[in-house]
Amino acid sequence: MRLQNLTSLVCAAVLAMAPGLGMATERFQTLLEKAEDVRSTDPATFERALGELNTFVGEADERQRQHLRYLKAYQLAYGGRYDLAIAEAEVLLRESDDVVIRLRAGALAANSAAATRDFIRGLRHMDEALALIDQVQDRDLRHNVLLVAAILVNQIGQYELGRDYSEQILSDQPDHRNRCYASHLRLESRLNLDTLDDPDEAILASAADCEAHGEVVGANLIRLHLARHWAKQDRSSSALGLLQQYLPQVKEARYPRLLAEFHSLLAERNLSLGALDAARRHAELAVESSAGIAQSMPLIVAEHVLFKVAMARGDTEAALVHHMRYAQADKAYLDEVKARELAFQLARHETSRKVQDIELLRRQNQVLQLEQEVAAQATRNTQLVVLLLAGLLGTIALWAWRTKKAQLLFRRLAETDALTGISNRMHFSRRAEEALEYCRKDGEDAGLVMFDLDEFKAINDRFGHAVGDWVLRQVADTCSAVCRKHDRFGRLGGEEFAFLLVGCDLGSSIALAQECRKRIAAIDTAPSGHVFRITASFGVAGTRNCGYDFLTLLSRADDALYRSKREGRDRVHVHGLEAVPGALPTA
Ligand code: GH3
Ligand code: MG
Ligand code: MG
Repeated sequence: MRLQNLTSLVCAAVLAMAPGLGMATERFQTLLEKAEDVRSTDPATFERALGELNTFVGEADERQRQHLRYLKAYQLAYGGRYDLAIAEAEVLLRESDDVVIRLRAGALAANSAAATRDFIRGLRHMDEALALIDQVQDRDLRHNVLLVAAILVNQIGQYELGRDYSEQILSDQPDHRNRCYASHLRLESRLNLDTLDDPDEAILASAADCEAHGEVVGANLIRLHLARHWAKQDRSSSALGLLQQYLPQVKEARYPRLLAEFHSLLAERNLSLGALDAARRHAELAVESSAGIAQSMPLIVAEHVLFKVAMARGDTEAALVHHMRYAQADKAYLDEVKARELAFQLARHETSRKVQDIELLRRQNQVLQLEQEVAAQATRNTQLVVLLLAGLLGTIALWAWRTKKAQLLFRRLAETDALTGISNRMHFSRRAEEALEYCRKDGEDAGLVMFDLDEFKAINDRFGHAVGDWVLRQVADTCSAVCRKHDRFGRLGGEEFAFLLVGCDLGSSIALAQECRKRIAAIDTAPSGHVFRITASFGVAGTRNCGYDFLTLLSRADDALYRSKREGRDRVHVHGLEAVPGALPTA
């Protein structure tokens, strides 16, 4: 198989790929389908259909427009304007998001590029198309792409790939045409790989199968491979017999490349059997059939046969001419083969570089992901540390707060009289001393009022200790209410209480004592469950008479208090004063 028959063979097969179409306006869709039907069989109708499609292009959706663009590219390729066809197909490859369109465009670009001998581009597009076939449902479309690929790789001597692609088609229920050409390509690959071991009958049967379905070219390509196979096994007569049998059919098929192949092999085999005339005749026909076909293997073989025949006949002049032509054709052919191999290596290099680039990107992504994970972990760690610190600080704060609270509680317990909730003797004494010191410094007056409940033992005795306690609490509450902000009030012990009145002269102190005395006497004892009277006896001492020493003041007030007791209780006495106005009980 040579380059140009790639185009002619495959144009009919590959470019006739059936499209899978989506939603569309109906008229445009019908026209598209009509164009598809005739494009490889009736160029004139195809051209008219394209004209009509152009007229109605306003009705087309995006996919239909792309489909039309593909058909135009196909028409360009069919008309031999490969460069334009490639440019159009490449636009579709880049822009279309329809995988079927992209696949068809890729195959068309690969095919057209191979036809212009731009193998690098051809192989690149072939790889692109092959990468898409798994995404395509349409079996024929997949097979057609694999067929293009198999033809291309066999052309450049990559027969393992050619065998793989053709076997892929054969194992996937191909239609008759694809089965025929895939069989031919598989045979070609295996023959060149020296791995052909199919029975002759099987090969002949597959040729007959092609012929039965009208694929005469395919059938005879297969027979040609079989003849070569036989020739390799020194079965030249069998090879000659087969070729001669089908030569008329090949002539009728009017396919110059196949004809050139037949004649060149006939020439070679006849030469090997010493049939010089027949060898020369076929060689000349091979040269004739190769006219206009550049880089043709049959031409090389034919010129070589003609050189040998001339030599055998001692015609050195003719031998020289044919040898020169042979050398020329051979060089051109080798250059072509080298160019194709180079293209293949470049395309493979490009592919492997892409694979490496992808791998590199993947690795870079992994690194980035890891970095992000590390960063995220670091953030989580930081958050954890912050949380731990916050927890620790919280615990410390809670502990400090609780300690402080406990301290305050203990202090309050230590300062407070448990029964009445007012200052106990020790606390009252300390605070009274502080207040007296303050008054002394400021030259302010202060008064100390002390009182003791009257006949309290009798209350305990008559109503019980609990009632006595109740009385003590009532008295403490009642007298606390009389206190001003800066005054100090405390329980000295038992049923004895005292005030230290800041900024009060004797008059004010007496007034407070009297107020307190009256309120005690007015306490309603009914809530205790008993009705009785509570009274207290008061003693008052002022700083102006007694100075600012607390114990002295206390002792003077105590004296006055005992005087109140002695004089009948429920009254107020002031140290240093004989009589106190309003000191006696009113009730
Ligand atoms: P006077 O009028 O002379 O002060 O007589 P009095 O009975 O009040 O004095 P006395 O000192 O004889 O009795 C005081 C009583 O106070 C004796 C004691 O049992 C009682 N008392 C002291 N502390 C408490 C207390 O916390 N609760 C109760 N219920 N009684 C107490
Ligand atoms: Mg008493
Ligand atoms: Mg007492």
